[in-house]
Amino acid sequence: MPLVTLEGVGKSFGDNRVLSDVDLSVEAGEVVVVIGPSGSGKSTLCRCINRLETIDEGRILFEGNPLPAEGRELARMRSRVGMVFQSFNLFAHRTILDNVTLGPTKVLGQKRGQAEARARELLARVGIADKADRLPRQLSGGQQQRAAIARALAMDPVLMLFDEPTSALDPEMISEVLDVMRSLAATGMTMIVVTHEMGFARSAADRVAFMADGRILEIAPPDDFFGAPKSERARDFLARIL
Ligand code: ADP
Ligand code: MG
Repeated sequence: MPLVTLEGVGKSFGDNRVLSDVDLSVEAGEVVVVIGPSGSGKSTLCRCINRLETIDEGRILFEGNPLPAEGRELARMRSRVGMVFQSFNLFAHRTILDNVTLGPTKVLGQKRGQAEARARELLARVGIADKADRLPRQLSGGQQQRAAIARALAMDPVLMLFDEPTSALDPEMISEVLDVMRSLAATGMTMIVVTHEMGFARSAADRVAFMADGRILEIAPPDDFFGAPKSERARDFLARIL
């Protein structure tokens, strides 16, 4: 059974049709990289998967069940999906350690000591163990994004959604974040990653999905996709960014 399945998903904002006929199945352990021009619906797709947006057509299954509409069931489902955005969204007035322990203590009801031990382990894993007691603004952009990844992982997600996690970073910090994502992929984490980093797509993706105008026009292993994109739109897109 796939971890996530989208079937015929459609979504509009007013009369702007943003997603059309989106079918996508993501298997446990799979890394799907989503690429495509700005405005093609990549962020909306991510947001629909954890129901930050509702869909108008089709259905989305998570672990075989329709996404819960609301309440405790929805909160539980969301707690199993980690999300990392372009803007790190760390709590500015809390230490890095607090940022990572807040979810586990408040949402999962973990004891402070247990949450802290796990947080320190995760901060070490993303290479910022020494930043635990700092405030977000005392960290570089790359370090803040790695803290945001640690915070998401602290909830023990079964799926991680990354929406252009390196787009706001200075160029020299991009690779440190991509390296963390690569090592996460190597642990078997299921990941959906929206990115313009084609090197990452080539090396880390099991499949690359190309979106344009709210549709997935192609989805294929990176060697196939980059070697021989089938659609004119994908060829144009790649010609412009590579
Ligand atoms: P991408 O991430 O590929 O750049 P988005 O999913 O952000 O694309 O946006 C797809 C389209 O949906 C765009 O036309 C955008 O303006 C529109 N859109 C996204 N979010 C909203 C919203 N909350 N309200 C209205 N329109 C939106
Ligand atoms: Mg976007």
